[in-house]
Amino acid sequence: MRPRCVLCQLHEAQDVHLLCDGCRSDLLWRGETVHVQDLSVQVAFAYQWPIDRLIHLYKYQARLELLPVFQYGLTQLQRPQVDALLAVPLSPVRLRERGFNQSHELAKRMAYHWDIPLLTHVSRLEGLRQKGLSRAERLQNLDNAFVIDPTIHVLPCRIALIDDVLTTGSTLLSLAAYLRAEGVEEVSGIVVASQHQHRSNK
Ligand SMILES: [Zn+2]
Repeated sequence: MRPRCVLCQLHEAQDVHLLCDGCRSDLLWRGETVHVQDLSVQVAFAYQWPIDRLIHLYKYQARLELLPVFQYGLTQLQRPQVDALLAVPLSPVRLRERGFNQSHELAKRMAYHWDIPLLTHVSRLEGLRQKGLSRAERLQNLDNAFVIDPTIHVLPCRIALIDDVLTTGSTLLSLAAYLRAEGVEEVSGIVVASQHQHRSNK
């Protein structure tokens, strides 16, 4: 017997995304590149029912078995022409609370699927720490301060950032600005769902 749909739990699910045909057809596909200021971001779905519910369950109830749904969306986007993927890091406090980084779990799977190396050397600082940061880092929003593992000397030239939801885009923009300041030539973004209508390049 096939497993039940992870969303409605009524009908049989397809193996690839764990949803039944009805729930899958409720997903609003966007499959487009949007621009948040100077950052290009590929978006799989519109952030509305049922992807909003699925992401909420995944993030806040640690329902990691839902990952195939998001992976199903991301695999239908264009494979990025980059040297590495990087998950948007969580702050240490948030990571402890949640127990996992939802973006890192996605990035791991997409790195495998697209056969692109996964960069894991960038972390997020806690809000109040200023000491030891460069001027450029202090100028950033304190909630969006990042740091690179000093054991890595050269960052890849082209990096795609992976995140679950695009809301204002402020975190992605801060991270992109940080990486560019550290010498990364091209930064782009890939998200499962976007909450807002951004200017499309189509
Ligand atoms: Zn269903």
